[in-house]
Amino acid sequence: MRNVVIIGSGCAGLTAAIYAARANLKPLVIDGHEPGGQLTLTTMVENFPGFPDGILGPELIENMRKQAQRFGAEFRAGAVASVDLSQRPFRITSGGETVPAETLIVAAGASARMLGLESERKLLGHGVSTCATCDGFFFRGKEIAVVGGGDTAMEEATFLTRFASRVHLIHRRAEFRASKIMLDRARANDKIRFVAPAVVEEVHDVGKNSVEVLQLRNPESGAASTLAVDGLFVAIGHDPNTKVFRGQLDMDENGYLITHEGARTNVEGVFAAGDVQDHRYRQAVTAAGSGCMAAIEAEKFLETQHAAH
Ligand code: NAP
Repeated sequence: MRNVVIIGSGCAGLTAAIYAARANLKPLVIDGHEPGGQLTLTTMVENFPGFPDGILGPELIENMRKQAQRFGAEFRAGAVASVDLSQRPFRITSGGETVPAETLIVAAGASARMLGLESERKLLGHGVSTCATCDGFFFRGKEIAVVGGGDTAMEEATFLTRFASRVHLIHRRAEFRASKIMLDRARANDKIRFVAPAVVEEVHDVGKNSVEVLQLRNPESGAASTLAVDGLFVAIGHDPNTKVFRGQLDMDENGYLITHEGARTNVEGVFAAGDVQDHRYRQAVTAAGSGCMAAIEAEKFLETQHAAH
């Protein structure tokens, strides 16, 4: 029987592990299918407090992991296949083994949707980004492209005009899913140039390990074109990793877990932290903060349970 099982090993899960381990709860962390979470897909992180010269995302995550291990957190590789939260102890199945747990912290994160191009994957962190707040600063005075037609794309394109000399907003349809107000704001910004309808077919130059040119196609006319840019921001949405919790934990219409009073879910003893329950801030520091909250809640919950027996 585990006091605390943590699902997910990104910023939220690892911070929860540090706190739970230091509270002597010997947490078990199940890594998930993207060990280390979204920070492992970035390069330099300059907005995590405490690192005046910045720190590489993978290094930051590795440090957090070591910090959790130092206080006794245990790690298990692999993704969670199923959970049974209908009664305590909860039962978490991963790698063919079922772990009973008194409390559960869900920090399974969200995955940025990608276009699915090999070149996009190879240049992620080298000119291709899924986070304007994180990486916009690196594109001061440069020309960049944002892909997407929703509110996120409008918001990111508008935000990126603070740095970029020009933002090309590429969308696959002539109509936009974004709310009128966000679309109007982007349209009124003279640094944003709309390129629609257009799909990105290739990102060059993988050989140089940097973004230089996008190969585009108009899906209506079939016409091909190229666009020279220094960066590509993919802003086509995120998918929270919540499939295994369907029917057990309350979610919003997009699948994000609903938390209340901090990190609590609708099931007593189950807490949620990080991007799996946050589609608004999505920052390493906010994920870490909510991981801390979840661990403190789990500790308090265990105290009240043990006091009652
Ligand atoms: P979204 O509304 O699902 O929009 C995703 C966009 O990406 C769509 O325009 C979609 O095109 C495009 N797309 C998806 N897959 C693609 C692909 N493979 N290739 C090219 N384009 C692709 O996602 P979101 O913009 O992240 O917004 C998610 C939710 O958060 C929404 O409810 C939104 O209102 C909300 N949000 C609100 C704010 C705000 O109010 N400040 C800010 C950000 C987000 P199609 O339209 O052709 O499907």
